[in-house]
Amino acid sequence: MKFGGTSVGSAKNILQVVSILKQLSEHSQLAVVVSAVGGVTDSLLKAAKLAVEKSQEYNDEFNNIKDKHLNIVDGLISEQYNAMVKEVILDKLDQLKQLLDGLYLINELSPKTTDKLLSFGEGLSSYIISQALNSSGIEADLKNSQELIVTDEQHTQAGVILGLTNANIKAYFKDNKSAITILPGFISRSEKGELTTLGRGGSDYTAALIAAALKADELQIWTDVSGMYTANPKLVKQARPIESISYQEAVELSHFGAKVLYPPTVQPVLELNIPMVIKNTMAPDEPGTLITETGIKNIRPVKGISHIGDIALLTLQGNGMVGIPGFSRRLFETLAQEKINIILITQASSEHSICFGIKVEDAERAKKAVDISFENEIALHKIDPILVETGLAIVAIVGDNMKNHQGISGRMFSALGRNNVNVRAIAQGASERNISAVIDEKDVRKALNTLHESFFEVETKQLNLFITGVGNVGERLIEQINSQAPFVKERLKMKIRVIGLSNSRKMVFDKKGLDLNHWKRTLESGEVASLDGFLDMIKSLNLRNSIFVDVTANEDVAYKYDQYLRANIAVVACNKIACSSDFGIYSELKRLSRKYNTPFLFETNVGAGLPVIDTLNHLINSGDEVHSIKAVLSGSLNFIFNNFSDQVRFHDVVRLAQEEGYTEPDPRIDLSGIDVARKILILVRESGIEMNLDDIEMDGFLTSAATGAKTVNDFYQTLKDEEGHYQALYRSAKENNCQLKFVAEFADGKAKVGLQEIPSGHPFYNLEGKDNIVMFYTARYSEQPMIIKGAGAGADVTASGLFADIIRAANN
Ligand code: ADP
Ligand code: ASP
Ligand code: MG
Repeated sequence: MKFGGTSVGSAKNILQVVSILKQLSEHSQLAVVVSAVGGVTDSLLKAAKLAVEKSQEYNDEFNNIKDKHLNIVDGLISEQYNAMVKEVILDKLDQLKQLLDGLYLINELSPKTTDKLLSFGEGLSSYIISQALNSSGIEADLKNSQELIVTDEQHTQAGVILGLTNANIKAYFKDNKSAITILPGFISRSEKGELTTLGRGGSDYTAALIAAALKADELQIWTDVSGMYTANPKLVKQARPIESISYQEAVELSHFGAKVLYPPTVQPVLELNIPMVIKNTMAPDEPGTLITETGIKNIRPVKGISHIGDIALLTLQGNGMVGIPGFSRRLFETLAQEKINIILITQASSEHSICFGIKVEDAERAKKAVDISFENEIALHKIDPILVETGLAIVAIVGDNMKNHQGISGRMFSALGRNNVNVRAIAQGASERNISAVIDEKDVRKALNTLHESFFEVETKQLNLFITGVGNVGERLIEQINSQAPFVKERLKMKIRVIGLSNSRKMVFDKKGLDLNHWKRTLESGEVASLDGFLDMIKSLNLRNSIFVDVTANEDVAYKYDQYLRANIAVVACNKIACSSDFGIYSELKRLSRKYNTPFLFETNVGAGLPVIDTLNHLINSGDEVHSIKAVLSGSLNFIFNNFSDQVRFHDVVRLAQEEGYTEPDPRIDLSGIDVARKILILVRESGIEMNLDDIEMDGFLTSAATGAKTVNDFYQTLKDEEGHYQALYRSAKENNCQLKFVAEFADGKAKVGLQEIPSGHPFYNLEGKDNIVMFYTARYSEQPMIIKGAGAGADVTASGLFADIIRAANN
């Protein structure tokens, strides 16, 4: 058994260890390897670094280490033994202090001295734990593993000499049959007798060596999480323990960064087929992860995802490499001589370049060595000096079963691509047990979560919304999201979170999702809003499935869409400006949306929540062709003319329409017909035809005074003053037995909008309230048009149209 740093990190946790050992020792003989008290190895290194830098603060760090151990002793060891144990501890701490004082004087820290220093950690913890057992009346021996584990001289990362080590372990345990033997992990001794260590995290390995030498029934690694997880639980909240896994899968995951297991640990137990379990000291009843030869047959092709940070990518390239054998041999020999560990290699079949990933701390050394080794070729311009890129990380997906499934790498890279994670290099071993990708360090969290979602949570998808504009429609949208969230989660398997909110004055963000019950208060206490600030924040949060929702009618917001799309952030807008401004802007946004495979949706631009654009897109995409369009597209104008008669003033009806929220914030946009012109323009464009607003014939019904009004108030005044003009329109229609409808038409490549008298029997005649109607005459619907009809204005239907676009974007 091995207990890690957290497991022995406090008196309370050590008592937990004691209770686990007590129980198990009743029917098994236990060899128990322990790490240093949590954080102590780091503290030792820190103290040494301070001392070497001539900073007196090393004394503080030493005192921390001292207090930590003495506190544990006080919390653990009964009075009877307390003084005796403390005396031993204080003696060891005294030696440590002398070593640190020495470092301060000579200000130099060699790898050899580092090992001497580090060995105090496990030395102290193993002694304390053996005494804790004895003080609870459980007999336990303490054996110093430095007398058992024999290594080479490679300090801080020593290689184990297996023959000698095995023999030592066997011999010791042959003569010592204590039910519990405590041994310090990590520390060892070279053949020459120098203290060495097995590399950071190496206590796991000590335990595996002992398990293998003794042909143990089982190796148990007790740590602070309930097993090996599908991804690092600190970075991926949805990660969960893997029930069972094969040795090879465990090796791959640990090599690629799953810190829960030190990579060399698996080898010794694998050879003897000793089962291994990873368990949680703080939750011993949880099953943990079982590691065996085959794992338990599990249909999942991908078992886990891991990552290594601080990676540098080095590229050797040049025309002189093509077809000439020996380049890679020389390259890798050079790196081997420098003892540089290569984590990933890729070479294109053109042989024009070789690219490899190493730890960033090795990069400079690698570059120097390789450039010297290829000095001649570089001078002759056969190859370029080696190229070094830093700030990178490797993410890897691992699973024995991946080789039997096609499409895994496709899924991996499309998930990353959809979320704007740029992949710099790729490697897939022929075993197909591991596919790794080199990405930017800053994208690691997003990449891990994206991959985790794609391979382990296909059931639920996380949507991250950023909403700007919280007027009438925005407010309804937030209400709908809040009340519909449980349904969407249950039925559509999507979890919707609003991460950012903004109006023209303030903006707020919450990475975990804003509480939508109190969003108004939260927004009021937010920071000062800015369009660039909003965009930058969304980019820097770098969340997967990000969607920007524009619920404003603001031009400046619309002119930012291109930047969102370029960053793979989907755009959903009820703002019409982008799609109805210059054709170049519209078509560029459509192009970006295709190029970055990022949705740009604006269904609510026409007919509020009615599925007008979506239907049109389906027709066009399936090869249909639009011949003409006839439509009533203004819910507000329809409302106004449906309620206007010789019994009411035109002015009052317009006021009412505005109060009910059917008009744009500025009613002139509706009454001038410009809003309708924009809508027919968007339909024409979505039909695949290039057109601009100027091309549309505008047949307005306002008086010149109304058209010329400077302010909304002036405009209302002209309506009052010129009531007669509007009454005349009404009278004429009535006399002709017609209804007034503001109609938009497209035919023969031309579009126009204007007020028309519609005779009874026409599909527009009975259009009620604020309804819209669109008739598409197409190649397929040539005689009878396809008709879409229903409420075409109002905050609720518009909000639900936005909601539908959000879901469409998420389904992309
Ligand atoms: P110990 O001190 O017990 O050896 P470590 O800190 O070395 O513990 O390893 C356990 C830690 O490994 C966990 O707390 C977790 O943060 C980290 N970790 C990284 N990847 C994984 C993973 N895939 N599964 C479980 N833990 C992981
Ligand atoms: N104490 C050592 C370290 O922190 C070894 C270990 O805990 O496994 O790296
Ligand atoms: Mg560890």
